[in-house]
Amino acid sequence: MATETPASRRVLVAKPRGYCAGVDRAVQTVEKALELYGAPIYVRKQIVHNTHVVNTLREKGAIFVEETEEVPEGAIVVFSAHGVAPAVHEEAARRNLRTIDATCPLVTKVHNEAKRFAAKDYDILLIGHEGHEEVEGTSGEAPEHIQLVDGVDGVDKVRVRDPRRVVWLSQTTLSVDETTETVDKLRERFPELIDPPSDDICYATQNRQMAVKEIAREAQLVIVVGSANSSNSKRLVEVALDAGADAAYLVDNATFIRDEWLEGVTTVGVTSGASVPEELVVQVLDHLARRGYDDVHEVETVEENVRFALPHELRRDLRGAA
Ligand code: SF4
Repeated sequence: MATETPASRRVLVAKPRGYCAGVDRAVQTVEKALELYGAPIYVRKQIVHNTHVVNTLREKGAIFVEETEEVPEGAIVVFSAHGVAPAVHEEAARRNLRTIDATCPLVTKVHNEAKRFAAKDYDILLIGHEGHEEVEGTSGEAPEHIQLVDGVDGVDKVRVRDPRRVVWLSQTTLSVDETTETVDKLRERFPELIDPPSDDICYATQNRQMAVKEIAREAQLVIVVGSANSSNSKRLVEVALDAGADAAYLVDNATFIRDEWLEGVTTVGVTSGASVPEELVVQVLDHLARRGYDDVHEVETVEENVRFALPHELRRDLRGAA
């Protein structure tokens, strides 16, 4: 009986993949805070949307809470990379909490745009996913001026006061192609719609989507490593399917890969969301190698070298401790 030789089974690994600068900074923030102040360190919401990262930090002494009211008075609380509404800062100040804000600077940029356009009394159409923490934080900057547009289907529901004073902003982790479609549809309704001063979909989201497109053109199956609550990881699955992969799956780690997905597949694509540590990708590659997929090629579409400094309140205390 003829069998496929392992040599005919390829793996294309997308690059860039995994940690972005904002996630790296947020994870480091909790790690450094634990080293500097000792456990426990409270973290409001998941610091980044990845189960493995959250569990690892929990083992080191981080306590994850949903709201600041769960944090004991006077304790240290870290705000997650997704950002928080001003009301959360006010609540923390009322409760006398010591806060470290690990909001990604690229999310803060969108907050600042929202504040600026709200101050000029524009209607702000925020393209994003209902219930996502980032959207809740951005909307909280100017709730009376911002309305959420959850994809193309949300466009018809939009109501504005003056169609000549409307701007769109977006969540940082959306699908670039889908957002373009939503903006086009909004512009049909509001021809004078203003674009954001610069891209709100961040460099990391765009780069990972571009890279997964490249591998999905050749791979029958694309495995995206990421957690189910990670917006940018879920978008990578959609982008892979749109780009031509026969199948694409989101897996938290290698144990979720089912052998039947590999039946008849000669080329597997692998990538990971912006909140995924590389060790999880390595485990996936090991898992595939044990099944004969050991001809591994990295496909790089763009070089990334973005880095963000730690939050200033932490840097100040680190300097003081040195
Ligand atoms: Fe920042 Fe983009 Fe990473 Fe989100 S995905 S934390 S916006 S760099």
